[in-house]
Amino acid sequence: MPTNLKESCRSVHGAHEVPRQDRRQFLKTLMVGGSAVGLTWLVPAVGPRAAGQTEALLLSCMDFRLVNQTARYMHSRKLTDKYDHIVLAGAALGAVTDTFPAWNQTFWDHIGVAIDLHKIHKVMLLDHRDCGAYKVILGEDFAKDPPKETAIHATQLRRLGKMIQEKYPALTVELLLMALDGTVEVISASS
Ligand SMILES: [Zn+2]
Repeated sequence: MPTNLKESCRSVHGAHEVPRQDRRQFLKTLMVGGSAVGLTWLVPAVGPRAAGQTEALLLSCMDFRLVNQTARYMHSRKLTDKYDHIVLAGAALGAVTDTFPAWNQTFWDHIGVAIDLHKIHKVMLLDHRDCGAYKVILGEDFAKDPPKETAIHATQLRRLGKMIQEKYPALTVELLLMALDGTVEVISASS
């Protein structure tokens, strides 16, 4: 790299750096009692909202394969940092199955808390294809027959969606089904 370019890189980087001595002094000031200027400098420009309100509660499955895809989907919906999140194996099925009644209760408890604490006005129910919990609880590998798989998820999503709307008519409910590549299809509330 030519010397003049090196110099210009250094000056560009240097413009954003706090010299070591100043950093040490800054931290010392902060530890001793802080300063308004220093504290302002520490607060990120964009961060989580203050406790109070948020948009939605998301219910999703625990499947490790879709953790990033789920966050990416919520980001595409412009909901990053704007939703509460409850995770149950099987998502909608986990919330309604007789096999795990404690999970049903956990779901309703969390909806109640999300309403009380964060005034949510929407619940997003996000099932996914090739779900192990559906296989275990219902005893069938639905992934082999995609239309049948869509139908069984639609049944569970609609069942839970209806229960939510009966209990909390003010909430809107979205019924969603994610494929393993992260694409999401919307399931209509009525069959
Ligand atoms: Zn699953």
